[in-house]
Amino acid sequence: MSITIMEAEEQEGHPHMAMFMVLGHLQLYEILNMSGVCKSLLDAVNSDILLWHRLIVESPLNSKLTDESLLKITSKADGRLKTLALMNCIHITDQGLLRVVEQNPYIKELHIPACTSITPEGILKVVEALSRRSNCLTNLSINGIYNLQKEHYHMLVLNLRKNLTLETEQTQPPFYYHIQFEHNVVLASNLRLDYDEKMQQPVYYHKRSSVSSFEQGENRRIIDLEICPKCVEVRMVYDCPKVDCCKRKECKGCIFCIPRCENCGGCVGSEEPEEGACGDILCLECWLQVPKCNFCNKPYCKQHTDWWCTSTDSSLLCRVCDENSHGYTYTDVL
Ligand SMILES: [Zn+2]
Ligand SMILES: [Zn+2]
Ligand SMILES: [Zn+2]
Ligand SMILES: [Zn+2]
Ligand SMILES: [Zn+2]
Repeated sequence: MSITIMEAEEQEGHPHMAMFMVLGHLQLYEILNMSGVCKSLLDAVNSDILLWHRLIVESPLNSKLTDESLLKITSKADGRLKTLALMNCIHITDQGLLRVVEQNPYIKELHIPACTSITPEGILKVVEALSRRSNCLTNLSINGIYNLQKEHYHMLVLNLRKNLTLETEQTQPPFYYHIQFEHNVVLASNLRLDYDEKMQQPVYYHKRSSVSSFEQGENRRIIDLEICPKCVEVRMVYDCPKVDCCKRKECKGCIFCIPRCENCGGCVGSEEPEEGACGDILCLECWLQVPKCNFCNKPYCKQHTDWWCTSTDSSLLCRVCDENSHGYTYTDVL
């Protein structure tokens, strides 16, 4: 009898096996949508713990995410969350993040760029909590958090340096960090070197806040911020990808000290700033290579190529010139 019922269920619309296979390749909001489709998918989503070890919250979910919903989602990892990336999740607070971290002490990568409701003090508490519990944290991204001072930065670095002792144990499964005291001492002697080596990894302006470069593990430093060698403030400090520059380190600095090309991340000297139709800056080399507006001869940077309009004779027009061509100007609209 029960076999008959199961068969009937199968025939009535049990999801195709392929649906379960793709779950691991979906974005968080797609997984959550899938779980609402039917009971079998809900069960599959809830029981597949691996899906919840690595959580990346980006648009369109980020603007809606609250402390409560984050706690609910992260609880599916059953305490084994390893990567938590909250991209621009403006409603997440210090308390919300701390609760998640307390329930998930094995977080290794914590990325909270532009989570503007989180404070430097909140981040310190979170990092200290993780250091106390497991010492797993080896990557922290906090660009866009307000009021972060040098004192906060130094405290964070101090805690993150400690965590490096354990990162060398990565060959072991993550839940078996049984490190002997003697071994720890040996590792500690190499600590400074490891930290400095890891902070040498270049960071490029044109790849900032890109979810794809985050997912591919590009430019993964221990902490994303640095003290700018020019203005001595705690900021994102970018390296210059231009071949002539990268050896000299002269144009390493924050965006306030060194203007950079939106397309290639290279420094833009005072002699060659070229403004795109979007207002972003391009270096002369990039400016020469990209298509320009037929009317004002300005290009769009890589980020804004979808802003192009086409005129009736299919030539390229920027938004401003397109609006002008319809008989009104920006100033008329304003
Ligand atoms: Zn600077
Ligand atoms: Zn360029
Ligand atoms: Zn340069
Ligand atoms: Zn134009
Ligand atoms: Zn642009």
